[in-house]
Amino acid sequence: MQSLKVVVHANATLGEGPSWDANYNRLLWVDIEGHLLHIYYPDSGNDVVYNIGQLIGAVVPYREEEVIVALFEGFHKYHLSTGELTLISNPEQDIPNNRFNDGKCDPSGRFWAGTMSLKGQADCGSLYCLDHDLSVRKIVENVSTSNGLGWSPDGTIMYFIDTPTRQVDAFDYDLATGTIRNRRTVFTMPEDAGYPDGMTVDAEGMLWIAEWNGGRVARWNPYTGQLLNVVSVPSGHVTSCVFGGKDLEDLYITTACVGMNAEGLKAQPLSGNLFRIRMGIKGQPTHPYKSLMN
Ligand code: CA
Repeated sequence: MQSLKVVVHANATLGEGPSWDANYNRLLWVDIEGHLLHIYYPDSGNDVVYNIGQLIGAVVPYREEEVIVALFEGFHKYHLSTGELTLISNPEQDIPNNRFNDGKCDPSGRFWAGTMSLKGQADCGSLYCLDHDLSVRKIVENVSTSNGLGWSPDGTIMYFIDTPTRQVDAFDYDLATGTIRNRRTVFTMPEDAGYPDGMTVDAEGMLWIAEWNGGRVARWNPYTGQLLNVVSVPSGHVTSCVFGGKDLEDLYITTACVGMNAEGLKAQPLSGNLFRIRMGIKGQPTHPYKSLMN
């Protein structure tokens, strides 16, 4: 096991949403409030930054020169070389007080992403699914802060976090149709933990959950609720994580400085950076978006 280290000194306002783009050996991640898409190339150590010009909730891999993003103005395709944004669908065009937040593709390449209120209002968000044919379905309503998503290794369970509930929920998942049923809570974060934020599911089906106000990423058994491993991160606002690297054993962790006062930032000056640690545990691949469009 290697110790935790900073791989990008990004000072992101709200670093989030890491995705491993295995085809191009790079990590996609975002600074939601900085309006920035980051692409980190571990071979060179370069982190290339793209200003998207609006709130960017999530990014998923698509092609070498194109990624799919969930922006304030909805789902778009973004071309890395030209900067061109192509609208796919904006399901909340009539809700200007919401923005997209966390998102991820299921194992067949549908892009799931949810929304939240910009004003902290409860139950105003929803969870959507952008399907292969570019249609968008609203799947879950009355969400407050739509966050971590993940699938069991066999694709039969979808996990979902609505942060203020402190719960990790599961659904039975039908991979053939992209439909969910039988929502239940698999465990509730204990009182001494932070708020559950972003999540990834490892190759053994265990959940790695970043804790907002918790200063750590923790590994949980969703079948028993047992806490298995803890990675302490020197930032109060730990936002998300994903496994990357050629062997899928590099755990990348995003953090944020938003909401920290000057004193807090002085105490935790590494907040907003991108971290990495190797624990000897393998992740699942990040699934790229798959579509019928050109
Ligand atoms: Ca989040």
